[in-house]
Amino acid sequence: MTRIGGVSIATAPFAALGGQAAKLGLHLTDAQIGQCGAYAAALIETNRSVNLTAITDPDAIALKHFLDSFTAYAARSWTGHERLVDVGSGAGFPGLALAIALPGLAVTCVEATGKKARAIESFAGLLGIEAQVLHARAEEVVRDQRQRARHDVATARALGSLAHCAELLLPFLKVGGDAIAWKGRIDAELPAAERALAAIGGEIAAVVPTASLGLGAELPGRHLVVLRKTRATPDRYPRTPADMKRRPW
Ligand code: SAH
Repeated sequence: MTRIGGVSIATAPFAALGGQAAKLGLHLTDAQIGQCGAYAAALIETNRSVNLTAITDPDAIALKHFLDSFTAYAARSWTGHERLVDVGSGAGFPGLALAIALPGLAVTCVEATGKKARAIESFAGLLGIEAQVLHARAEEVVRDQRQRARHDVATARALGSLAHCAELLLPFLKVGGDAIAWKGRIDAELPAAERALAAIGGEIAAVVPTASLGLGAELPGRHLVVLRKTRATPDRYPRTPADMKRRPW
């Protein structure tokens, strides 16, 4: 055990994380691995009083939160200086984890639940990461002209169907930008996603199974879906939450 920030953490899963991330072409320094461990310790500690995640043991946090977030690195070509918005960040995944892995990113986390947004802010502070954390719904944030069509990458894990992700993420992107959705099985969601993309202005650029990244054992059955924005999104998207519910794609 090691102590970081006054909290004991199991170092072994985080030592393994370095080797696993290297399979993605992502070479993390000891300091970055240390940040992941400190983040995990703070997450476990905070989760005792604030329900942030169902994943609470360090091994599982290393794989299912950090490594899973890092798979985005292999799903597209990065400059490392993108403006990235993470929608529905929860406890900060994948947004804050990617901010650790690629410190040159300008990361915005959008989270509708106050206690989660406050937790992300405190984790970022603890780790010395300058991320913008917005406690709001994405539908409102993206009406702000400083946010709409201003990002290079938009991410979402466990936010909803692929079509719903397309509607919430693409309006944030510049034309040519990529939305990345973390999914399990996707076949059943593809027809609705195609309809949404045709209206919103995007296409499916890639579907990347974790198995193709050499992580089929660590992260079984997961897919990253890359949605590329091909033209400006009409102003009426995203619709209001009520309209999205009433008329799913
Ligand atoms: N991405 C995290 C959390 C997933 S749970 C992870 O994978 O661990 C989905 C989160 O999205 C919840 O915290 C919920 O509050 C938030 N959320 C759902 N719809 C949202 C919206 N329209 N705008 C902002 N946050 C949203």
